[in-house]
Amino acid sequence: MPDAMVATRASDERGTAQQVDVAVVGAGFSGLYLLYRLRKAGFSAVALDEAGDVGGTWYWNRYPGARCDIQTIDYSYTFDPELETAWTWSEKYAAQPEILRYLGFVADRYDLRKDIRFRTKVTEAKWDEKAERWQLTTDNGAPVSCRHYIMATGCLSAPKPPEIDGVKDFKGEVYFTGRWPHDGVNLAGKRVAVIGTGSSAIQSIPLIAEQAAHLTVFQRTPNFALPAHNGPAPSDRMSLLQSDRAGYREQARQSMAGVPYPQQTVVSWQLSDAERRERFERAWAAGDLVHILTQLWADQAVDIDGNKIVQDLIREKIRAAVRDPETAAALMPDDHPFGAKRPCLDTNYYATYNRPNVTLVNLRQEPIKAITASGISTNGRSFDVDVIVFATGFDAMTGAIRAVHPITGRDGKSLTDVWAQGPQTYLGLTVEGFPNFFMITGPGSPSVLSNMAVSIEQHVDWVVDRLAALRDAGFTTIEPTETAQAGWTRHMADCSMVTLHRLANTWYTGANVPGKVQGLMPYTGGVGPYRSICDEVVSRGMLGFKLTGPGGATQCNDGEVVRLQPDVRLVLNLLASLNLPPIESMGAIGARAFVNEFNKGRPAGRPIGAIVDGTLPVADGALPYRVYKPATPGPHPVVVYFHGGGWVLGDEQSDEPFCRDMVRRTGMMFVSVDYRHAPEHRFPTAAEDGYAATRWIAEHAAELGGRPGPVLVAGWSAGGNIAAVTCQLARDRGGPDIAGQLLICPVTDCSFDRPSYNDNAAGYFLTRGLMYWFWDLYCSPADRTDPRASPLRGNVEKLPPAFVTTCEFDPLRDEGVAYAEAMAAAGVPVEQLKAHGHFHSSFTMVDVVITGVSGRVQMAEALRRFAGLPEVSRDEPSPGFKISAAAS
Ligand code: NAP
Repeated sequence: MPDAMVATRASDERGTAQQVDVAVVGAGFSGLYLLYRLRKAGFSAVALDEAGDVGGTWYWNRYPGARCDIQTIDYSYTFDPELETAWTWSEKYAAQPEILRYLGFVADRYDLRKDIRFRTKVTEAKWDEKAERWQLTTDNGAPVSCRHYIMATGCLSAPKPPEIDGVKDFKGEVYFTGRWPHDGVNLAGKRVAVIGTGSSAIQSIPLIAEQAAHLTVFQRTPNFALPAHNGPAPSDRMSLLQSDRAGYREQARQSMAGVPYPQQTVVSWQLSDAERRERFERAWAAGDLVHILTQLWADQAVDIDGNKIVQDLIREKIRAAVRDPETAAALMPDDHPFGAKRPCLDTNYYATYNRPNVTLVNLRQEPIKAITASGISTNGRSFDVDVIVFATGFDAMTGAIRAVHPITGRDGKSLTDVWAQGPQTYLGLTVEGFPNFFMITGPGSPSVLSNMAVSIEQHVDWVVDRLAALRDAGFTTIEPTETAQAGWTRHMADCSMVTLHRLANTWYTGANVPGKVQGLMPYTGGVGPYRSICDEVVSRGMLGFKLTGPGGATQCNDGEVVRLQPDVRLVLNLLASLNLPPIESMGAIGARAFVNEFNKGRPAGRPIGAIVDGTLPVADGALPYRVYKPATPGPHPVVVYFHGGGWVLGDEQSDEPFCRDMVRRTGMMFVSVDYRHAPEHRFPTAAEDGYAATRWIAEHAAELGGRPGPVLVAGWSAGGNIAAVTCQLARDRGGPDIAGQLLICPVTDCSFDRPSYNDNAAGYFLTRGLMYWFWDLYCSPADRTDPRASPLRGNVEKLPPAFVTTCEFDPLRDEGVAYAEAMAAAGVPVEQLKAHGHFHSSFTMVDVVITGVSGRVQMAEALRRFAGLPEVSRDEPSPGFKISAAAS
C-alpha cells in the first residue's frame, strides 16, 4: 500500500502507532509550511510539538519587547500570493503577539492544526532497518511510525541553563526570556536583575526599566545594537515590494542574506571619510540590520580593516547616547568584529542607561560569584533583587535537535555520538547514517545567517520535492554518502574563511555553551549560492545521495557537490554567465584590448607608499617598469616581478592589485617589468628581457630606492616561467645574486600530457586551448624544450630557495608541482603551497577571491624569510604592512 494511503489519525491507544508518511517535529514557521507542502504533495503527515499551539519560537519568546529583527514584509511566507495580500503587517518590525497571530492565521487558513499533536514531545526516535521506517515514542499519546522524519525544531529553541551557582537558593522570582509566562509578569515596583546583553536582553531592558523600581543589568560581553526606528513599514521598501512582488521575492531568494539588497562593490578605501560617514549615517537612520551589515562597503564583512571602520562609527554613537562615560565605555564592544556576533536592533537601549533607576554591572571587571537567597553577588558587591531575568541565550543550532534524543539511526548509531565532535551534515539537511532524516535550517545551512523565512521555504520545498521524486521513482530510502558529507564539511570550512564570523566567540560557534565543541555551525556562503548548490545536487542526479528501493534497487551518484573555493565558484559562474568568446579567438590585439577592459572593472588595490614609473635599457630596446613602494621608510629589499598573460598579454600594470597587496604584506619594494611580448617578439625575447631587467634592477636598486644586494624574483603564470628561467640564467651567467624565487602557477614545461591538463582542460578560465595558443604565439615547437622556455628541462641545481604555488583547478598545476619537486630533489630549499579549490587566477584576483588571502600571507612570509627580514606576528601587524590572521 502506498504510504500516502496509510491512516493519518493518531490512535487513541498508547500502544498502537500512528502511521504516517512523514512526521515533523515542531509547529513553527518550518513545521507549518511542511504540513502544507506535504499535504499538497499527497503525503500523510503529523507534526508534534511540546507547545500548546502553533508558533515555535514565537510561542515561547513572549518577553517584553520581543519582536522580529528582519523587516516583517521580508519575514513572511511567500509561497502563496493570496496569503501575502490577505495579511497586512501593522509595523516595520512586528511584535511577538502579532507574529504569533499571523502563524495562527496561516494554520487556520490551510486547516493545518488537524495534523498537529500539541503538548506532545518526542522522547525517542529509532530507525527501523527492516521496516525502513522511523519509530517514535512520545510523552503524550500514541507512538508514531513514519517513513520520513523531519526536524523543524528551529535553531534557537533549547534555552541554555544559567550555569551560575546558587540559582536554586534565590527566594525571589526567576524568569527566562525564552520561556516567558504566557499571562505576563508584573514587574512594577520591583527590583529586577537582567543577566545577559544579547538580542533578547537588549529588546526587553528598556521596557523592564520603565516598569521596575530598579533594574540592574549584568553584562558579560557588550553587543553592537542599532536603533530599529520601528513604525510603519518604510515606504521605499514597501514600494519596491508592491511594484514587483514576484521580482522582489525572487531577488531575496538569490541574495546573500535572504533580503533583497544589491551586492556592494565599492570597498572602504575607495571612499573618503565623508563618503563613508554619509553611508553609515544612512544605514543608522534606516534601522535595518541587513542594510547596515551589507550596504556600507564591500569589505565590511570580510576584512578586519574594513570592519573596524564600522565598529568605530558605532562606538561613537554609543558614546554620544550614554551620559556617564564609564558606563558608555563598558557598553562598547571591543572583542569582536561587527556582524561576527549577531548584532541587535533596539528601541532606546543605550539611552536606558541614562535613567536613574538603571545600573550596569560590568562582569568583565566583577564576575558573578553566586546567586544567593536575596540576589546576586559579584566579586565586589551584593545586589538584592526581587526578580532575576535570565536572558542568557540558547544551546543553538544543535541543542533542539539533540534534545529529542536519543535519535538512533542505522546500525544503532546515536546522533549525539555521531555529532560528538560537532555537527556533520550534507547540505545542513541530512546526516550520513540517518536515512530518511531531514533537518530544516539545520547546522550546515544558512539558517541563522539569513532571513529565516526565505531559508525555511527553500528547505521545505527542496525536501518535499525530493520526497515526491523519491516516491515517484519507487525508492523508499534516501541517505547522504560519507564522501558527500565530508565534502560539505570541507566546503563549510572553506566558506568560514571568507567572513569574519570565525573571529568571535558566539552561539554561532557553540562558544556560549560550556563544554560544547566549537566550530562555525551556520553556512556562511550565502542564501543564493546555497540554493544553487542544492539545485545542482538534483540536476547532477542526486549527487552525494544513496537511494534504495524494493528488491535491492539502488542509485548512488557519489561525489562532492562543491570542490571549488566558494568565491572561486562565484567568479567562475559569473564568467560563465557572460558567455565570453574564447580569448584565443580574439587575436593578440583583441585579447589585449579585452584584458585591459576587463581589468578596469576590478578592485584597484589598496593604497601603498608610492608608485614610480620608468624605463630600463635592454640590448635592443627599453622596457617600461613600475615600482611599487611600501609606506614605511626605505630602503626596502627589492622583488623583481613578472606579470602573467601567456607571454602575449599584460604589462607592468596588469597585476597591479597583486603587487600592491604583496607590498603591503611583505614591506618590500616590487618592480614590475613590462617584458616584450609575442607574437611581435617571440622566444627567447621574454626570457632574455626578464634576465636583463633583473640584472639592471639589481645594479640600480639603490637609485630605485631599494636595498642594494641580492634581489628576489617573483612571477605569476608566464611571469612565473620568466622568474624561474631568470634564476637559472643568473646562476649560469654570473649573477645577479637572487635571494629567493616566488613562482605562482608557473609555466615550467612544454608538455601537455600531465593529468592537470586534462582534468582542468575547460571551465576554469585558463583552458588547455588558451595555453596551446599562447605557446604557439610565443615559441616554435623546436624551441620549446630549451630550458629558457621549459625550465623543468634545465639544470635545477643550486637555485635560490623557492616558494611554489599551484592551484588544484589549473591546467598548469602538475608542471608547477613537478618543478618544485625537481628543485627539491636537487637540494634547493623549496616550499610548496598546493591550494585546494583554487584556479589559475585565484591569487591575483585581490579583493575578489577573498579565500586567496591566506595563500598570499604565506607567500609574503616566504619572501620575507628569503630576504632575511624578521617574521611578522600574524596577530600584531607592524606599521607599514599587515599580515593579519583575519582576511585583511
Ligand atoms: P544570546 O545572544 O546568546 O545572549 C545571551 C547573553 O547572555 C549574552 O550577553 C551572554 O554573554 C549572556 N550570558 C550567557 N550566559 C551567561 C552567564 N553564565 N553569565 C553572564 N552572562 C551570560 O541570546 P539571546 O539574547 O536570547 O539571543 C539569541 C539569538 O536569538 C539572537 O542572537 C538572535 O539571533 C535571536 N533573537 C532575535 C531576536 C529578534 O530581534 N528577532 C530577539 C531575541 C533573540 P556572552 O556574550 O559573554 O556569552
